[in-house]
Amino acid sequence: MKYLPFGKTGVSVSELGFGAIPVIRLTFDEAERVLRTAFDRGITLFDTANLYHDSEEKIGRALSPVRDKIFLATKSMKRDGKSVAEHIDLSLKRLKTDYVDLFQFHQVAQEKDREVIYAPGGAMEAALAAQRAGKVRFIGVSSHSIPMAMKLIRTGDFVSIQFPFNFIETEAADALHPLARELGVAILAMKPFAGGAITDAALAFKYLRSHADLFPIPGYDSAESVEQVVSFYDAPNNASGKDFEEMARIKSELGGEFCRRCEYCQPCPFGVAITGGMIYPLLASRMSPKVASGFAAANLDTVPNCTECGVCVTRCPYTLPIPAMLKKHYELYLEHRNSKE
Ligand code: SF4
Ligand code: SF4
Repeated sequence: MKYLPFGKTGVSVSELGFGAIPVIRLTFDEAERVLRTAFDRGITLFDTANLYHDSEEKIGRALSPVRDKIFLATKSMKRDGKSVAEHIDLSLKRLKTDYVDLFQFHQVAQEKDREVIYAPGGAMEAALAAQRAGKVRFIGVSSHSIPMAMKLIRTGDFVSIQFPFNFIETEAADALHPLARELGVAILAMKPFAGGAITDAALAFKYLRSHADLFPIPGYDSAESVEQVVSFYDAPNNASGKDFEEMARIKSELGGEFCRRCEYCQPCPFGVAITGGMIYPLLASRMSPKVASGFAAANLDTVPNCTECGVCVTRCPYTLPIPAMLKKHYELYLEHRNSKE
C-alpha cells in the first residue's frame, strides 16, 4: 500500500480508502472484522457520514483502538450551523473519538444549499468553530455537480472534493480533476463501481489506478472483498488497450437509462425526491429487499406525488425519462416492502 499526501494538509493517507455505506448491512461483529482487515492491510483512510445509519458506531467500535493511526472522514447533509454543530458532536460520540480528520459538507449540488452553508449562522460557521475547538482538523465537501464542485473548491475553503468517478462516470476527469490538482485539493473518488452498475472489480480499479493521484473509497461488505481490492494495489496496474475497449463497451451499453446522481433535475415542485427514486434499483441490488425498502422509504414514499409535469426531464443533462423510471422503481419498492427478507 502506498501513502500519498492528502492535498495540502501535510498528512499522508493510504492511496486506497474505505467507504462505509456497505457496513450498514453488516452486524457489529462482521463490520469489525471487515474494518480491522482493512486497517491490517494498510488502509488508513476511512470515510463515513452521519447519514450512513450505524456505520459511525461500527467504525468507532472497530477502530477506536487504532484511532491515532487512521484518517477519519465524515459528513453531514445539514446546512444550518446549529444542526451541523450537533452532527459533529454526534459523530464524535459515535466514532468514539474527540476529533475527526475531515468533516465534509455532504452532497452540495444546489446553489440554495451553498447559499445556506455560507449564510450567517450557516454550516460553514459551525464547521470553522468546530475546527477552532479541535473537533475537526480539515474541512472538505462532496458533490455530484461538476459546476458546483468547481465553484466550491475555487473558494479555497476545502482541502478535498469528493465526487463520483469510475469508467462510466468519467466527466470529472475533464475539468474538475485538473482544477483540484492545480489548487492542491485532494480528490476522493466515490462510487468506484458506479453505485453497483460496474460488476467487474478488477476492471474498475484498472481504470481508477490509471489516475494515480485519486483516493478511491470503495465500499466493502466482507474481509474477502477488502483482500481482493487490496490485492489489486499490491500489483502493478496492467490496464491494457483491450481493458479500455471493454470499459467503453460497458459504458455504451449502460449509456442512456442510467442516473448519474448529479441532481440537476432537482428540486421537484411537487416534493418528489427524484435522485433517491432514480437510483433505487442500484441500491436494492446491494442489499436485501426488506433492508433496501426500509433504507429508501423516505425517498420512495414521495414518488406518488409525481404529476408527470416533466420539469425534471428538461433539466436532466442525460434526458432520462424520469417520471416513467420513477414509476417503475416505485413498483419495485412496493414489491420489496412487502417481501419477507
Ligand atoms: S415529472 Fe414528477 S418528478 Fe419530475 S418535476 Fe414533475 S412532478 Fe417532479
Ligand atoms: S435524473 Fe438526470 S439530472 Fe437527475 S440526478 Fe439523475 S442523471 Fe442527474
